[in-house]
Amino acid sequence: MSGLPILQSTSLTSQNIEVSDDGPVAPPWPHQPTVEWQVVGQCNYDCSYCIQSKKHRMGIPSDDSLRASLRFLAALPVDDGRPWEVKTTGGEPFSFRGFLDLVVPGLMSTRHTLSTLTNLSVPSSTLARFARLTFGRLQVVSASLHLEHTTPEHFLDRLEGLRDNVDGRTRIVVNCVLVPDDKGSLDAVKKAQDAVVGRGFRFFPQLMKVKGGVFAYTKEQMNQVRLVVGDLALAAQTRSANLAPAYTGRRCWTGSRYLVLTKEGDAYSCRTAKRFDEGFLGNVKNGIHLSGGPRICSYAICPCAVPANRGMIEGVTSSSLVNAGDEE
Ligand code: SF4
Ligand code: SF4
Repeated sequence: MSGLPILQSTSLTSQNIEVSDDGPVAPPWPHQPTVEWQVVGQCNYDCSYCIQSKKHRMGIPSDDSLRASLRFLAALPVDDGRPWEVKTTGGEPFSFRGFLDLVVPGLMSTRHTLSTLTNLSVPSSTLARFARLTFGRLQVVSASLHLEHTTPEHFLDRLEGLRDNVDGRTRIVVNCVLVPDDKGSLDAVKKAQDAVVGRGFRFFPQLMKVKGGVFAYTKEQMNQVRLVVGDLALAAQTRSANLAPAYTGRRCWTGSRYLVLTKEGDAYSCRTAKRFDEGFLGNVKNGIHLSGGPRICSYAICPCAVPANRGMIEGVTSSSLVNAGDEE
C-alpha cells in the first residue's frame, strides 16, 4: 500500500463515468446521492447471523482498485452543488490498515462527505484519530452492536468517546439485530436498547435476515420484538426499525444516484441486485455507467435501509432522511 498516491484535487469530469441522458437522472424530491463503498471484505468478528458468507467476508483491496476507486469517487458529478455521501462498509472498515492511512484521507481530499459503518471494535485512540481526520465532514456513524462479541457497557464507553470527538452535527446510530439468544430469548436486546437509549444514543433495531428472507420468529419472540420495536405498523411507516420492507414495483433511483462499490471496484445498483448478480454498472478501471433514471424494483425485500433513508425510492418521504439507521 505504501506507493499509493493520495488524491490532492478533484475534477468535475471523469473518463470512467458515463451518465445516460434519457429520463430524469435524479429523484424529483430531496435526496442524498450516496455510494456504499465496501472497502474491505475482512472482518475481525464472526457473527453467527452475518448475512455475508464467510467465503466473501475476506480480503482487502489491491492498490490499483483502491486508487481507481478514489479517482472514480472524486469525479462523481455533483448536482446543484450537493456532494455525494460515501458510506464506507465492509466487512469491518477499521480492520484494514489502509482505511485510516489511505481511504479516509483520500475521501477527505474530495468534495464528498463520509459516513461509516463499524462494529466499534478498534481502540478508542483509533476512533479519536478517525474523528480528527474527518472532523466537519463526517455525516453518519452507524455503530453496530454485536452482543455475541461485546457488552453494551463496553461498546457504549467507546461510543461516548467517539461522540466527544466528532463534530456535533455528526449523527450516530446504534444498529442491533434482533437475534434470539441460545435460549430463544430477546431479553438481551431489550436490555441493550435500554442502555443505549439511556446514554443518549439512537437505537435502530433490525429483524434478523436469513437466506431467503427474514428469520421465522415464534409468537413469543414476536412479542419480544414488539417490546423493542413498538407498534410494527408505525415503525414500518416511520422506519424507526428495519423491518425488511418491500418496495416491489416502485421506481427506485439506485444505479443513478446511489450505488454499491466493491473493494475490487465493481459497481452495482443496490445490494439486492448485487446478490442476484444483476444491476452491474461496470468497474472503476474500465468505466462505470450510471443509469439515466429510475429502475422498477423487482425484489421481494429491500433489506438495506440506506437507499430508502437517502430518498432513492418512490413514495418514501424525504423526512426520513434524518432517520438514518444504516445496517450491514
Ligand atoms: S455482522 Fe458485521 S461485524 Fe458481524 S461478522 Fe458480519 S460484517 Fe463482521
Ligand atoms: S431492493 Fe431496494 S434498493 Fe434495490 S431496487 Fe428494490 S427498492 Fe431499490
